[in-house]
Amino acid sequence: MWDVVIVGGGILGMSTAMQLKQAYPDKRMVVVEKERGPAQHQSGHNSGVIHAGVYYAPDSLKARFCLEGNRATKAFCDQHGVAYNTCGKLLVATNAVEEKRMQALWERITQNGLEREWLTAEALAEREPHITGVAGIFVPSSGIVDYAEVTRAMAAEFERLGGEVRYGHCVTALDERRDEVVVTTETDEGEASFSGRYLVTCSGLMADRVIRLLGQDPGFTICPFRGEYYVLPETHNAIVNHLIYPIPDPAMPFLGVHLTRMIDGSVTVGPNAVLAFKREGYRKRDVSLSDMREMLAHPGIRRVLAKHAKAGLFEMKNSLFKRAYLAQVQKYCPSLALDDLKPYPAGVRAQAVSHEGKLVDDFLFVNTRRTVNVGNAPSPAATSALPIGAHIVKEVKTLIDA
Ligand SMILES: Cc1cc2nc3c(=O)[nH]c(=O)nc-3n(C[C@H](O)[C@H](O)[C@H](O)COP(=O)(O)OP(=O)(O)OC[C@H]3O[C@@H](n4cnc5c(N)ncnc54)[C@H](O)[C@@H]3O)c2cc1C
Repeated sequence: MWDVVIVGGGILGMSTAMQLKQAYPDKRMVVVEKERGPAQHQSGHNSGVIHAGVYYAPDSLKARFCLEGNRATKAFCDQHGVAYNTCGKLLVATNAVEEKRMQALWERITQNGLEREWLTAEALAEREPHITGVAGIFVPSSGIVDYAEVTRAMAAEFERLGGEVRYGHCVTALDERRDEVVVTTETDEGEASFSGRYLVTCSGLMADRVIRLLGQDPGFTICPFRGEYYVLPETHNAIVNHLIYPIPDPAMPFLGVHLTRMIDGSVTVGPNAVLAFKREGYRKRDVSLSDMREMLAHPGIRRVLAKHAKAGLFEMKNSLFKRAYLAQVQKYCPSLALDDLKPYPAGVRAQAVSHEGKLVDDFLFVNTRRTVNVGNAPSPAATSALPIGAHIVKEVKTLIDA
């Protein structure tokens, strides 16, 4: 019998496991992960940005956890010898419409209590000679890190404290009983089972399916969006000094490719957001008929696709035609040419869509008597992993004390 079973070896599962073990050193805990190692999905396929908390509504969990997470991630990296760089982020307006939107963003940044600087076109050109714009906002606290490395450091800390991790175990059934939760897994050697007093699930792209295994309707379905990147040639590693972001359309704040300095010294362009035809499908040609059937049968997803058809087709066009993708980044970095865009692995985002057809914006948790489940954890969840883990520890404590 385990005291707590944690499903998912991404950054949220490992952050939660580590902090639970720190809070309850004597309790027996195990992380159960279907892949052969940690951070094989979203936590290992992202932009690696330690977000500052620019865009999020001030009263949202995203705003609170991102702000705390920015500081906590850097402190964790300092303690555990993980490399990061607080290189700052530059939001660039390229025309009058964007400059107006930038004003609204400036208010939001002010509400969220972030340090920031308004840059004129001249100041922008001085700071970033390869970037063109009519104005910009500089946010110094944004940074970069390798979240796969952060996840591995959290897993190592959890194991150092006596926690156990079982890779290669795919959870296929959950049975919540009066005194325990029975977790059934499939492995290469056959079926296994873990009995836990409490269960935490952080299963990313499979969050809704795992919650449904508990017999619960989570109220949403996960819609996978592939984020495709390119990397610039090594000769361009010094093309920018900061992270360069366009000013987003407030109606679609997660769209707009950015130039990202990576912690290994390279610079990536991306990601876009195209509907993925397979959960955990990283290549354009990855298709799962059952995943597609499930998506198209969901009235909420159908509504979202219809409502955002224009933006969806635009993203699809940019995905299929490299020249169209390039045009997006040339708006603020005109010196880039087609040959500069080299292949780079994509990521797939887990975005919860409600039955009513809304993209769930904030982080979302679904609790039962003996379980705490992460439902929606899109970006900036990697930045927010430590506060999200701390939040789950509090929730588990409430269950234990009840
Ligand atoms: C393209 C892209 C760019 C992003 N950029 C950023 C960024 O710059 N900054 C930022 O803060 N955030 C970013 N994010 C978001 C961030 O990466 C995710 O929010 C975060 O990694 C989510 O972590 P997770 O642990 O919930 O999910 P995951 O890392 O996906 O982990 C879930 C785990 O659960 C396991 N699992 C699922 N089902 C089962 C099962 N049945 N049995 C056992 N195991 C199971 C999976 O194998 C997986 O390992 C980005 C995401 C993407 C896709």
